[in-house]
Amino acid sequence: MGADVDEILVENGRATGIKLADGTQIEAKKMVITSIVITQTLARHLRDVDLGPSGAEYRRKIAKLRTDRGQIFWGHIAFHELPQYIASDWNPDCGQARWIFMGDADIDYLDREYRFNNQHIRPGQWPERLYLWEATDTKWDPRYGPPGKHVALLEEMAFPASWRTEKEWMQIKKEAPDHFLRVWQKYAPNMTWDNVIAANIDTPWDIQHRSDNFVDGNWGLIAGTPSQWGAMRPIPEFAQYQIPGIEDFWMAAGSGHYSLGLTGWAGYNCYKRIAQKLDLWKPWEGRLY
Ligand SMILES: Cc1cc2nc3c(=O)[nH]c(=O)nc-3n(C[C@H](O)[C@H](O)[C@H](O)COP(=O)(O)OP(=O)(O)OC[C@H]3O[C@@H](n4cnc5c(N)ncnc54)[C@H](O)[C@@H]3O)c2cc1C
Repeated sequence: MGADVDEILVENGRATGIKLADGTQIEAKKMVITSIVITQTLARHLRDVDLGPSGAEYRRKIAKLRTDRGQIFWGHIAFHELPQYIASDWNPDCGQARWIFMGDADIDYLDREYRFNNQHIRPGQWPERLYLWEATDTKWDPRYGPPGKHVALLEEMAFPASWRTEKEWMQIKKEAPDHFLRVWQKYAPNMTWDNVIAANIDTPWDIQHRSDNFVDGNWGLIAGTPSQWGAMRPIPEFAQYQIPGIEDFWMAAGSGHYSLGLTGWAGYNCYKRIAQKLDLWKPWEGRLY
């Protein structure tokens, strides 16, 4: 725990262990499984390993992976009373939904302007419209907050961490709750600062600094574009959670294919391939997943 892995050791085409940044070597008797994003895996952990005749092509493709789709604002607001949605007038139980998406029917804005405007957020420059998502989990499990109080997770689309300086991100982070509340109030007028106890909205800059896996603050490690999805993820040659020519090395990180929604599923998919190869327990037999 907490150790900085510097290299994956490969001998005679087989992963034999890891080397930590302090020089400690740890032998792998059966296999090495990594949960680290493919870009770091190749550029750092396998930097001195000969990847065979296609090695240069693998490295070039991985270095060119897109990471600029998948950045979000993501954070919490703690408050006193639940949002009272105007929509309850005609949809009485809408406030009870597990997730609430706030938007309008202006598909043209969503298609043509929303992303552009969100990508241009700067200190003091926010789009008039945002499409907020909220999940107030205290509605379901009051243990998430003190008795009678609430906390919601909020999400809004953002852009790569490297597009702004640290100073700019700190200011954007400070301004975010004001703008999120301004939009929320259009749908639930009681969501004013008077109702708010505290807010902390993470930006892609925060996310990038939480884990090296979140490349440029991307929550999905690398982008989920069609060219980096399913059998193409991260690149077709590595889509079976292995690197051709390196035995006993498995890649379980979310930069591998994970199916819809759940990034951690890549670990299970990787296990499936290991189980097929080593004839281990196959939990998917007899069920759908
Ligand atoms: C804001 C946000 C919202 C998200 N929402 C969702 C969601 O709704 N659904 C969903 O499925 N996923 C979501 N995710 C994504 C999900 O949390 C991650 O994609 C998932 O945890 C990735 O799993 P992983 O196994 O690839 O890597 P991680 O869980 O990131 O584990 C990799 C670990 O390796 C460590 N590490 C990196 N480099 C080294 C090194 N050199 N040596 C040693 N250790 C190292 C990292 O610190 C980290 O602890 C979200 C992520 C974020 C940031």
